[in-house]
Amino acid sequence: MQLVCLDLEGVLVPEIWIEFAKRTGIPELSRTTRDEPDYDKLMKYRLDLLKTHQLGLPDIQKVIAEMGPMAGARDFLDALRRDYQVIILSDTFYEFAMPLMAQLNMPVLFCHKLEVDADGYVVNYHLRMKNQKKEAVQRFRELQFKVIAAGDSYNDTAMLAEANAGILFHPPQNVIDEFPQFPVTMNYTELRAEIDRAAQ
Ligand SMILES: [Mg+2]
Repeated sequence: MQLVCLDLEGVLVPEIWIEFAKRTGIPELSRTTRDEPDYDKLMKYRLDLLKTHQLGLPDIQKVIAEMGPMAGARDFLDALRRDYQVIILSDTFYEFAMPLMAQLNMPVLFCHKLEVDADGYVVNYHLRMKNQKKEAVQRFRELQFKVIAAGDSYNDTAMLAEANAGILFHPPQNVIDEFPQFPVTMNYTELRAEIDRAAQ
């Protein structure tokens, strides 16, 4: 049985924090782990900023819903789900992703959770486990699935290596250079062709 595991941000939907920063006009929110390698510090900084700007979860979800998935993502995913079991593995949070999942026909998503207080402010976050993308692929393989995984960036490479076949989708040049073992696809037609080829 073939299972396809897809990264979410940069593959099916925009980078949520970066797009959110643009749409709200709060450039500080586009800080990433490249600027602040300590993920916990980065998240606390982001949550403080949301509170400072009085953005509660409903406001955040409204902005995220307006982003929409990437052009062609829904058709690509609908067609893929007709032929394969598909699971999306992401390091985002359910509360952020759900407005976009609704626009993608509610595929299966494994990610993390936020904690929201009675006033609707995000006060904390909970990572289900570390390295969950790679760990999930390893468990699926133990369940005798053949796993084809695709992602766009550095944090996907452990998952791609763990899969029977790993595919890069629209990656930055440094990832292409550093991981020449993974085929590179630049659009959904190429990605689908590479998935079909790996499944043979
Ligand atoms: Mg990504």
